[in-house]
Amino acid sequence: MPTQCKSKTRTGARCAAYATQDGFCFTHSPAKSRERAQAHKRGGRNRIAPKVGTWNKRITTIADALDCLNDLVLPDLIALENTVPRARAIIAAIESAIKAIDAGEIERRVTALEQILKNREVQQ
Ligand SMILES: [Zn+2]
Repeated sequence: MPTQCKSKTRTGARCAAYATQDGFCFTHSPAKSRERAQAHKRGGRNRIAPKVGTWNKRITTIADALDCLNDLVLPDLIALENTVPRARAIIAAIESAIKAIDAGEIERRVTALEQILKNREVQQ
């Protein structure tokens, strides 16, 4: 059965964490100071924010919006730590891309129909 850590916290209360073989928890074990320092270093490195992309164009067309989503937004989101907000943001970006693709398709069809009508007017 696990035992409680022998150390005291900053407030003077007994540490509530489970002890390892030396009677101290990972945080308080004098034997684990080196391991602890390495874990702190790793933790700090893992929390460094990923480099963010840049976007210098103005979005004036559906193609620009899709380029921005594909080249900037999604790569930046995918580089983030895997969290529920990240997953939601990726889903929102995908939904925006689908809407843009749909709008682009409608625009293309309307343009094609307008061209057909224009050709008919010329013939009459
Ligand atoms: Zn402890």
